[in-house]
Amino acid sequence: MRVAVIGGGVIGCATALALAKRGADVVLLERAVPGSEASSAAAGMLGAGAEVEEESPERISYFVRARDAYAEWTEELRRETGIDVGYRVSGILHVLPDSGEEREKILRIVSVQRELGQRAEILDVAAAREIEPELAPKAGTFAYFPDDSQVDPPALVRALVAHLGKMRNVTMRIGAVVERVLLEGDRCTGVALASAPDDGETIVRADATVLAAGSWSSLIPGMAGAADLSPVRPARGQVVQLEERPPRLRTMIVNGHAYAVPRGDGRVYCGSTVEFVGYRREVTAGALRDILDGTIAAVPGLAHAALSATWVGFRPHADRPLVGRSSIPGLFWGTGHYRSGIVLAKLTADEIAQSILG
Ligand SMILES: Cc1cc2nc3c(=O)[nH]c(=O)nc-3n(C[C@H](O)[C@H](O)[C@H](O)COP(=O)(O)OP(=O)(O)OC[C@H]3O[C@@H](n4cnc5c(N)ncnc54)[C@H](O)[C@@H]3O)c2cc1C
Repeated sequence: MRVAVIGGGVIGCATALALAKRGADVVLLERAVPGSEASSAAAGMLGAGAEVEEESPERISYFVRARDAYAEWTEELRRETGIDVGYRVSGILHVLPDSGEEREKILRIVSVQRELGQRAEILDVAAAREIEPELAPKAGTFAYFPDDSQVDPPALVRALVAHLGKMRNVTMRIGAVVERVLLEGDRCTGVALASAPDDGETIVRADATVLAAGSWSSLIPGMAGAADLSPVRPARGQVVQLEERPPRLRTMIVNGHAYAVPRGDGRVYCGSTVEFVGYRREVTAGALRDILDGTIAAVPGLAHAALSATWVGFRPHADRPLVGRSSIPGLFWGTGHYRSGIVLAKLTADEIAQSILG
């Protein structure tokens, strides 16, 4: 079985790995550098709380499984490649708004998680500060998800690519821009490349083709014929990296749209915005102000941290993640993961491999 995977982000790389481990011959097609888009811009929170797009027990337990799959997966990646992908169970403290929809949503998630046997608590500020002394001492209530974890996304993609590089049944074609999917009769039979910088074939025939082109998924000609591809749009997210020396913050903090993810080595990823502005790759003054206002209000000590980097990424927004068999025989989805592509990567990859290989 030969499978072409379009896109070398976390979804494409994880899917290529899952397929190759099950014996498929895989061609991974990436137009630029694997992991150079959303997958390296992400904050790396592996959460099953506010990140879940709907509060049904089924969806929350899916996110819990996705989060928990990381312990074994990252250990396997370390064993195979020697790369530490920064997996840590550091917990998330979520500042609860005094009222409103967001508060109700988080309270419902806490209660569903508890029904599912998960650890989730509502804490007052004194109890929250025992867990995270860096929190502001002002009154407030917090939802605490102690088992939520994190990973360093650029390291994760590097490890996936290193692992793929060791597999004899994987060909990585870097710089290969997929121009269109090949449709013969009602079937997808592979892809055509706009160029082949590696001097390889520009027609790539495959028994199965996986679309994992992130925010660019809807732009690939041929996709319009797939009735079940809901449009995938770029949702820009901006990130500010701070550096604390020595590191103080230990727990991930979410405060409204702002969050802080301490890496443990002094770096703190602070995010983020959700902006539908096309593919404009700008870091803007207003976004930095909002992100820093939100994180410093929750963790005042961050005001003294050095600002060491800023970046943007485009989350692939769709109505919900598109995973597995499409309405076109031979074509499979692996896109539209929006804010949750890192946490869902391993389960998505396994599902796609299962739907292709059975
Ligand atoms: C600021 C920010 C913070 C985030 N935080 C989190 C978080 O904490 N937790 C979480 O779970 N998720 C988070 N996300 C979301 C997560 O990053 C995405 O859902 C995930 O990375 C999507 O992965 P992907 O592989 O689908 O897309 P991408 O990583 O964008 O990869 C798509 C790849 O396809 C390639 N491609 C596109 N078109 C073509 C073509 N025609 N031919 C060949 N290759 C092509 C691109 O070059 C790219 O490498 C965040 C995202 C952002 C932007």
